[in-house]
Amino acid sequence: MELATTPESLSCSECGDGIADTGYLPAAAGDGGYEPFVDGAICDACGYNAVGMAGCAPELDEVTDPGPADVLLFVRRTDDGFDVVHAKE
Ligand SMILES: [Zn+2]
Repeated sequence: MELATTPESLSCSECGDGIADTGYLPAAAGDGGYEPFVDGAICDACGYNAVGMAGCAPELDEVTDPGPADVLLFVRRTDDGFDVVHAKE
């Protein structure tokens, strides 16, 4: 499944840097694709070091409080947005 709406850019909610390559994005699975919650985006480095506590990818409940998001996407930056690399539910 693809993103229903593709953000043009994402900023990490931990360190504030723009996500230039890969990162994590909480989302809700909808009829038209994943609806991303861009405020909860986490860059790859913070996902491993700050959120996932050194050396493992974060779980959804480490990125966002229980709420509307029901999947954690691993996304990769492309020329015109972000592609879903994989989804962790
Ligand atoms: Zn970060």
